[in-house]
Amino acid sequence: MNFSAVIVAAGSGTRAGPGQAKQWRMLAGKPVLRWSVEAFLAGGASEIVIVTTEEGEAALPAVLKDLGGWRSARGGAARALSVQAGLAALAHRPSDEPVLIHDAARPLLGQKTIRDVLNALEDADGVLPALPVADTLKRAEPDQNPVTTSRDHLWRAQTPQAARRQTLLDAYAAWSGGEPTDDVQVIEAAGGRVAIAPGDPLLMKLTYPEDFAMAERLAGAARVTRVGQGFDAHRWGPGEEVWLCGVAIKHDETLIGHSDADAGLHALTDAILGAIGEGDIGDHFPPTDPKWKGAASDQFLKHAVNLVTAKGGAIVNVDVTLICERPKIKPHRQAMRDRLAEILGLPVDRVSVKATTTEKMGFTGRGEGLAASAVVAVETPA
Ligand code: MG
Repeated sequence: MNFSAVIVAAGSGTRAGPGQAKQWRMLAGKPVLRWSVEAFLAGGASEIVIVTTEEGEAALPAVLKDLGGWRSARGGAARALSVQAGLAALAHRPSDEPVLIHDAARPLLGQKTIRDVLNALEDADGVLPALPVADTLKRAEPDQNPVTTSRDHLWRAQTPQAARRQTLLDAYAAWSGGEPTDDVQVIEAAGGRVAIAPGDPLLMKLTYPEDFAMAERLAGAARVTRVGQGFDAHRWGPGEEVWLCGVAIKHDETLIGHSDADAGLHALTDAILGAIGEGDIGDHFPPTDPKWKGAASDQFLKHAVNLVTAKGGAIVNVDVTLICERPKIKPHRQAMRDRLAEILGLPVDRVSVKATTTEKMGFTGRGEGLAASAVVAVETPA
């Protein structure tokens, strides 16, 4: 289902302690805001609007480096005004498209929540994810005994909250109360049907300084590690040099292929595509397309890396094995690791290149061709 997202990141968040507002602070190695943007990208958002301050707008290009599909809007003095500014920035989207409105202070947004909220919107005007209250509740007035209060039918409201854009615009236009604390409240006031979708304890709101330590511990649970593997082989033919793992090696033969026949880069590209379920190298760069004749294969690998980044993912490590009797790989191994690390944007200790022979057996053993296999681990939003 097509949807767009508005992330409210205009607050100053003074309760979260001194220093930067919480949406700009780091959480498990990434700015808090970036977590939500990556989650919406992984969920297939058509467009993401980040509503923030003038200062925030200046910070966004660095905070969201390498991510596409977002734009910014200037926030208002209150949250409701910021939400409306975000909706206005989506004026070119269909008016009945679902919009998910999310607080940047809830960084650990999972894919299941996005799907659940969108599904529930099919039978409602507005949807919120919420958790039933589990703790016993007490009402305590100063100098009085705490009084136990029923928790029956009480829910803790979270974000992202969903509604069709026109529904939200109409409800905000009709709203005459004070400052609403969430968005379904205005839909509720306008007489709309509001549904509850399952909430997620990981969607905790960063409010107080100690919340950051808790969220750091939960952050691992908001990411999944995926594994991909790739294999490729090319035939030897007449030539003077061979490209392997992005490095040209002088040799008395070359590998034959439509592109530069760099089997190492091809196996690694396929491994990355496999880890994110994006088909194989032939789907993205058809060998029948003359555009790729003699092409340098580093662009195939860069394309796969960009797809990972666009899903809010990151490559954890790669391991490539080259299988051949000749040429000797060892003298070139470090250059290959350095080149792969450069293309992948990874530290070199996350990049491994190994080589083996097949003891003169099979097509690699007989010197008919060279084979490469690769394994990669990719971390993506859960
Ligand atoms: Mg190939």
